[in-house]
Amino acid sequence: MKVLVINSGSSSVKYQFIDMENETVLCKGLAERIGLEGSRIVHRVGSEKHIIEKELPDHDTAIREVLKVLTDEKIGVIKDLKEIGAVGHRVVHGGEKFASSVLIDDEVINVLEENVDLAPLHNPPNIMGIKAIKKLLPDVPNVAVFDTAFHQSMPKKAYLYAIPIELYEKYRIRRYGFHGTSHRYVSRRAAEILGKPYESLKIITAHLGNGASIAAVKNGKSVDTSMGFTPLEGLVMGTRSGDIDPAIVIYLQQKLGMNVDEVYTTLNKKSGVLGLFKKSSDMRDLEDAVFEGDEFARLVLDIYEYRIAKYIGAYAAAMNGVDVIVFTAGVGENSPIIRKEVCENYLSFLGIKIDDKANDAKGQEKIISTEDSKVTVMVIPTNEELVIARDTKEIVEKGIKELKLF
Ligand code: ADP
Repeated sequence: MKVLVINSGSSSVKYQFIDMENETVLCKGLAERIGLEGSRIVHRVGSEKHIIEKELPDHDTAIREVLKVLTDEKIGVIKDLKEIGAVGHRVVHGGEKFASSVLIDDEVINVLEENVDLAPLHNPPNIMGIKAIKKLLPDVPNVAVFDTAFHQSMPKKAYLYAIPIELYEKYRIRRYGFHGTSHRYVSRRAAEILGKPYESLKIITAHLGNGASIAAVKNGKSVDTSMGFTPLEGLVMGTRSGDIDPAIVIYLQQKLGMNVDEVYTTLNKKSGVLGLFKKSSDMRDLEDAVFEGDEFARLVLDIYEYRIAKYIGAYAAAMNGVDVIVFTAGVGENSPIIRKEVCENYLSFLGIKIDDKANDAKGQEKIISTEDSKVTVMVIPTNEELVIARDTKEIVEKGIKELKLF
């Protein structure tokens, strides 16, 4: 079966087309600047890159054009759209209804629409992507894989905030957690690589990309994670603040007269690495400045690493131990300095020892701790698209409505 994976964002649609016979990526790409000037599709087949400038006023058009590219005589990879066996959609928020990946029917779409106020920025474009595919490929089954689903195994003590309980009961205000597909993939992969039963391990997974979160995975289940009601909580990210005193929000409104949108933008888009460093939100730029001796950049990197280390310490306590720590996503996969400093400057009390030579690796699966380290530290490149394609294939081939994750 060939599975098309769609990740539909507010102004972009990412796609990957995977032959599940051997799990090879036939092509992948990005339709970007949807609804804006200069929209285009960047399409990749192996090492070839094709750029197709095209007006993409909405998601329907963008997905129609992506399907055209897939079947294009020159740069396409299939002759007929009938070769698409199923479509897997990344959906950000499944609320409390979805602790599994599900076959999409009208009822699922209704629930997704009900969840829009939980993820007002993310769920509407996800739904647009699903509806566009249903219109363009009416006979092809669609599956939703949720960012939140893996974390639905968290116990109440981890997901309830200490705010009036009716705010949870009436409005479902609680910790949901995100990046679940990535935490699930790398934690399971860690067990596979180590040849140990997934259900026997205490694993801390650090997904450090533009958005970043840490999860505690005990015996194959997520028991805590740093993102919360929204992806704003937790680590210092590219442009998000992560944890702050919530009273700062009130202060910004009362003292600085900021409105809701301004507070939102300040904390989500103008904070984190960008807010402190100012020059960029990109970790490569921050690291370059540190190597050039910029003392303030060094402080920003310390703040970033300190928060990661605090969460790893907290999650070792949450699980009463830790066997494995996994670094993944753009920063986690590619930054030896951050991995080394987090582990050596703060976590040596756990008996962690880093092997500098092994840690020199970028973007490849690797054990980076020494043989006598009490905790195994690993780098595992994440692959959310593959997980989405695997779940999609399993649901469709087995003819089931949902696939339980834990
Ligand atoms: P997202 O999917 O959340 O947009 P990614 O997982 O692609 O993000 O991660 C993006 C981050 O990874 C950026 O901050 C980028 O600077 C960082 N990154 C990528 N390559 C490197 C590298 N070689 N060294 C350090 N950071 C890197």
